[in-house]
Amino acid sequence: MSVTMQKKAMQEDTKPAVISRRDGSFDVGVASIYGRVCADDLSVVNRVVQEFGLPGIRLSAARTMVVEGVPNDLADRVQQALGSACASVQYMISGCPGNDVCKRGALSTASMAQRLEKVLEDLGTMPAPVKCGLSGCPRCCGESVVRDVGLMGTGKKGWTVFFGGNAGRKIRAGDEVGRGLNDEQTIALASRLLAVYRAKARPRERTARFVERVGIAMIKRVVMRGPEHDD
Ligand code: SF4
Repeated sequence: MSVTMQKKAMQEDTKPAVISRRDGSFDVGVASIYGRVCADDLSVVNRVVQEFGLPGIRLSAARTMVVEGVPNDLADRVQQALGSACASVQYMISGCPGNDVCKRGALSTASMAQRLEKVLEDLGTMPAPVKCGLSGCPRCCGESVVRDVGLMGTGKKGWTVFFGGNAGRKIRAGDEVGRGLNDEQTIALASRLLAVYRAKARPRERTARFVERVGIAMIKRVVMRGPEHDD
């Protein structure tokens, strides 16, 4: 399935990322994974901004692109015109450039971001939005420790995996649930953690609150056995 088709499929059962602003207008998120927006989507965004006479675009605090200042009476039409270029609120994957770009980087974050996206696509709808942060080394520029799922490269020692972090109103450092893992082990662990979260969390319960409620020990136990073996 192409990236565009994947995004369309995802959008059929998820809400678009629309944020209301103080002045009554809206910001509409543009689909991007790991800070990257494809050329086709950029063309669509450019056309929509010009066609509707919108103020422009900006980068959010999480470095995702948003079409800003959409008047209330145009919000639905702008979302429709953006089509698959419109972001979903279902998940966000952000991270540092990793060792493909950064001279301090130990591991590649770009390839892992793509694999993590595939995991999230395959799992489908989550109890609440999932934010993932990837960092290519322990300097942790990708803020992996305060994301729902965080991957941090530690050189030859492999990846360290965090789960249940949050940088919102009630800040929480994610629990370290894996260390010294290779790429395959890391993606497998992230996939199992998210599957447990999907199966066990309450509606709208973020991973941080989920971990606080059930305990990281229980989550680790179910991850080892599989959610189908736990009541
Ligand atoms: S976390 Fe490490 S690899 Fe990533 S940008 Fe920061 S210094 Fe570079």
